[in-house]
Order: sequence, then C-alpha cells, then structure tokens
Amino acid sequence: MEKINVLLIEDNPGDARLIKEMLTEEKGVSFDVDWKDTLSKGLKRVAVGGINIILLDINLPDSSGFDTFLRTQAEAQEIPIILMTGLDDEDLAMKIISKGAQDYLVKGKVNSSLLGRSIRYAIERKRNEEALKNYALQLEEANSLKDLFTDIIRHDLLNPLGIIKIASEQMLLAEGKNESKEKVLTMIKNNTDKLIDMIRDASMYAMIASIEKIEKSNIDLNKTLVTVENNFKIQLDEKNMRLERLSNCECSIRANPLIESVFSNLLSNAIKYSPPGKKIEANIINKSERCKIYFKDWGYGIKDEDKLKLFNRFQRVDKKGVKGTGLGLAIVKRIVELHGGSVWIEDNPEGGSIFYVDIPKT
Ligand code: ADP
Repeated sequence: MEKINVLLIEDNPGDARLIKEMLTEEKGVSFDVDWKDTLSKGLKRVAVGGINIILLDINLPDSSGFDTFLRTQAEAQEIPIILMTGLDDEDLAMKIISKGAQDYLVKGKVNSSLLGRSIRYAIERKRNEEALKNYALQLEEANSLKDLFTDIIRHDLLNPLGIIKIASEQMLLAEGKNESKEKVLTMIKNNTDKLIDMIRDASMYAMIASIEKIEKSNIDLNKTLVTVENNFKIQLDEKNMRLERLSNCECSIRANPLIESVFSNLLSNAIKYSPPGKKIEANIINKSERCKIYFKDWGYGIKDEDKLKLFNRFQRVDKKGVKGTGLGLAIVKRIVELHGGSVWIEDNPEGGSIFYVDIPKT
C-alpha cells in the first residue's frame, strides 16, 4: 500500500484530531500523520526529513498569515504545502497559492475523500513542477554552454585558422614549382578555407537561431545589392558570369544589416550552381507595403522534391563538386523570417532557378 508521510502543523487539538481521523478513513493509501502544534516545532520536524506533504494552518501561536507560509516554504522547498484556513482567510489563501502553495482547504468544509484527493494531487503537481524546474535549469545550462562554445568558435578558432591560411598561401607562392609540395599545400589551403567557411556559417546560424527579434534601421536594398555585387566580382569574373541588375531605383526599407547575408548567399549560390558563362538576374520589386526580391539563374536547377528541404540546415543535393557548408539557405530563411518575410524557389522556365524573397517594408 502507498504510504504518505504527512506533517500536520495545527495548533487546535480538535482540528488536528479531525484531520487525523479523516485520513485513516482513506482507502488504498496509508497516511502517517505527524502532528506539531507550533511552527517552530513543525519546521524542526521538516529538517529531520522524510515528509511528503505539509498541511499548514496559517494562524499559529508563533506565526500568522503570509509569514507562516513563507517561513515554511523557505525550509521545505521541495515539499508540497496545503494550507488549512478559516472561512475568512480565503483571499489570503489565494494569494499564497500564487506564491507556490499547492492548494488550500477551508476547515470545517473538508471531508476525508476531498482531503485525500487534495493531498495526492498536491504531491503529483509538486513533482511535475520540480521536474519542469530541473528541465528549465538544464536548458539554461545547455544554452550557456552553447553560447560559450559559439564564442570560442568565433573568436578563438578563426584567428589561428586565418594564420594557417595566409601561411599556406605564401608557401604555395614560394613552393609552387615543386609539384609534390604544391599538392600538399593546396590541400592545406583548401581545407583551411572549408573550415573557415564552416565556422563562419555555423556561428552565424547559431547567433540568428537564438534571437527572436532584430533591430532595424533604414536600409536601401538597391545599395545593398550593388555592394554584394562588388564583393562577388572576383567569383563572377572567374566563371565569366555577369549579374544583370534590373532595379536601379532606391528601395528603402526598415531592415537589419543581416539582410546583406541574404543577398550574398543567394548570389553566391547562383554563381556556384551554374555553369560558366551564364548570366544571373536580380531584381527588387517595390510594392506598396512590401518588397519582393529575386535572384534568377540559368544554372543546374532544383528538383521540386528538393525545393523545400534545401532550407533545412546541412541539406545539400546535386553538389556538382561545389564546396559548401549546407547552411547558407538555412541562414537565408532564418534572417528572412526574423524580418517577417518568406523565401521560396521557383523554376526558371528557361532552365535554372529563381529564389524569391518577400519582406515587409517596416
Ligand atoms: P551550400 O551551398 O553551402 O551547399 P546552401 O544551404 O547555400 O549550402 O545550399 C544548399 C543546397 O541547395 C546546395 O548544396 C545546392 O544543392 C542547392 N542550391 C542552392 N542554391 C542553388 C541554385 N541557385 N541552383 C541550384 N542548386 C542550388
């Protein structure tokens, strides 16, 4: 039979006897009641341990009202407390419930089944509360560990990698004539580049995944597009590609500077996943309350079944031997979502893909 150790703190011997009697009537559970008639005796009993529930009269010879509850709660943080109140104390009892008491019962209006049920529910609720509290603590800990890790990645790993990259590039220049050394150095350089990209993308993703709101300022999207085009000049030239910007008027919206990463990722992908010599088209369509932006390529295209899943992190299909982290589109989606917008892919009827972004102007 289930056994529940009850600590009854009650100064009125008549009420105490009544409660004890009610609890002996309950079937299926054995209540072992320890009765104390002052708060200080009750709290001493709590310290000994083994109590499952406290039935607490809030008006005692050595303490009264709210204070009785607070003192008990301080000593018995993990034990559920049910208040035993008089008819006039119901308002106070409700206030105490909001501070963490599990339930209250009005003396004289309790019968044995109500008391038994209240005790069992109170124990169960407290157990759930404690489990939730522990879970919240674990989450907090995991979160601060993640922040620490992201910080280490961003600040402490990128610097040494940058040095290795520069060193391997310099050695490549000096040792380029030696074929076997060139091979090893190229391998070092390529892998360092890959690591740097991965760290940048992963820490960017961790940062934007953990924020709920972004700060906005006035940003001219057309200027942002020109900046991004200039940043990708080398990659465009290397593949003999050109970006045709159809929009050239100002398109000012309230946005976060992170929006530049959306353009960079989409343009970078259009270059990476198109054969050399193809053009890319970009346009910003200024609507009354929103802006629609698209990047159209004449590249390898994307199958219908992949169009949605590519926005999930680490999803890569038909890589065509192109290096990548699989995080670019997940970053795009999150930034667009933080702006209250949406992003989707359509087929370019002439072959290739069109990436659309639709965001509100404010
Ligand atoms: P990454 O380019 O680093 O692999 P992304 O998240 O930016 O990661 O892209 C995910 C995948 O989506 C790519 O690996 C590629 O298969 C596909 N993809 C993205 N953009 C295009 C595009 N413009 N044309 C064809 N495929 C694309």
